[in-house]
Amino acid sequence: MSLLAEDTGVADLGLRWKPGFHALGPAFLTDLRPTPLPDPYWVGRSEAVARDLGLPPDWHSSQATLAALTGSLPIVGTSPFATVYSGHQFGVWAGQLGDGRAIMIGETEGGLEVQLKGAGRTPYSRGGDGRAVLRSSIREFLCSEAMHGLGIPTTRALCVTGSDAQIYREEVESAAVVTRVAPSFVRFGHFEHFAANQREDELRALADYVIDRYYPECRTTDRFGGNAYAAFLEAVSERTAALLAQWQAVGFCHGVMNTDNMSILGLTIDYGPFQFLDGFDPRHICNHSDTNGRYAFNQQPNVAYWNLFCLAQALLPLIGDQEVAVAALESYKTVFPNEFEGRMRAKLGLAEAAEDDRPLIEGVLKLLAAGKVDYTIFWRRLSGFMADGNVEPVRDLFLDREGFDAWMLSFSERHASTDRALAAELMRRTNPKFVLRNHLGQQAIEASQQKDHSGVATLLAVLQTPFEEHPGADAYAGFPPDWASTIEISCSS
Ligand code: AMP
Ligand code: MG
Repeated sequence: MSLLAEDTGVADLGLRWKPGFHALGPAFLTDLRPTPLPDPYWVGRSEAVARDLGLPPDWHSSQATLAALTGSLPIVGTSPFATVYSGHQFGVWAGQLGDGRAIMIGETEGGLEVQLKGAGRTPYSRGGDGRAVLRSSIREFLCSEAMHGLGIPTTRALCVTGSDAQIYREEVESAAVVTRVAPSFVRFGHFEHFAANQREDELRALADYVIDRYYPECRTTDRFGGNAYAAFLEAVSERTAALLAQWQAVGFCHGVMNTDNMSILGLTIDYGPFQFLDGFDPRHICNHSDTNGRYAFNQQPNVAYWNLFCLAQALLPLIGDQEVAVAALESYKTVFPNEFEGRMRAKLGLAEAAEDDRPLIEGVLKLLAAGKVDYTIFWRRLSGFMADGNVEPVRDLFLDREGFDAWMLSFSERHASTDRALAAELMRRTNPKFVLRNHLGQQAIEASQQKDHSGVATLLAVLQTPFEEHPGADAYAGFPPDWASTIEISCSS
């Protein structure tokens, strides 16, 4: 039940809360309240997340809930806070960072942390205004739900609430808040923070907390002579490897893989200048601020490994032996390629592995890169070919017809004894029809800026089930318009 603000001055979301991360104590966080934004309104909501949280069906019908999720009203049973972390940004130690604009409401009894991103300044804002603009909030909201729809581990987003309050970036923009949800928002940078400050007690308390809550199997491991911290590092690196394989297979470019943007649970986190590839370009740089291409699409798996080294360095005092720490990272080198190959095999409709799969995968990626062929459309059309045998829609995508025909020959040979209906089904469940392309987000954002939020809802609906056909939504599945390549997205938002 939601109570009215006028009645009580608080909002009751109908959820039960538990201490969670807050129980770690003041060395890890600062208690504070969000800074209200005036006259909030709904921009977008995910009913799927509302259900996961256990919110009542009418959760969004109350003004008090709207105000609470925009930071203007306390929520019964919660004591909000911001956490401290540090990190490496663009390969350089950046020192203390922390939740500069995300305020943690708390953790539900169901084990989900709820954060308000853009809810005002904190002791970690470092000169920032603690706010997020409407445009980046819509992007984070839609992409969180899109990634989940694709089956890729991610933080989630319950809603975006907007306000006409003005904030200043390159130009004046309106402010918004994203309500983010995840089992944990702990980052590699949380560990780096306490390690860099030689605070071993806090480092250990944090590691123990994360292991007990999220990696309990590390307590009883035989790996590394029963060293729980090494087993933890290995588990994180394996989850990260699996995540990166999914990013690379779907064509997702994160854009800011700083260690403070790496989830300890292997979730996609902190959506900034991300992009789903349009034409396939392995060297694509989606972040306008990334002039050296450190976070280019094809660099992501190596960067993740580099970031894991930073985590290993931070955990070293607990692991106690440098060789063991390095050994705990080793499996990244096998898990990533295995997972990636598995994902690519599924995209090709191959249920089982065979010797020559690698050249088949490398061959198609090379062809796609040479022609800058639209990545999502190619895979979806290839799925269609498997279903109906018509190769022309796929072939039409390539200028190098000879090259394509040669690859197609080996692809068909590989599928000689395949049950094509089964393979087509596997491909349709693996190759999405819809991804959050920049221009789609941009169109929804521009309408929202004019107070028409219907585009956000429509786009959300297709992105939540991106493997379905959604007849009538083909406009969301087409080639990007020419202006799409002129969209510039940077860190500042
Ligand atoms: P990001 O690259 O967006 O993950 O942010 C890096 C750091 O800057 C984090 O500590 C953020 O909390 C902080 N930050 C980013 N934008 C703002 C802002 N507008 N106000 C305060 N802190 C911010
Ligand atoms: Mg961040």
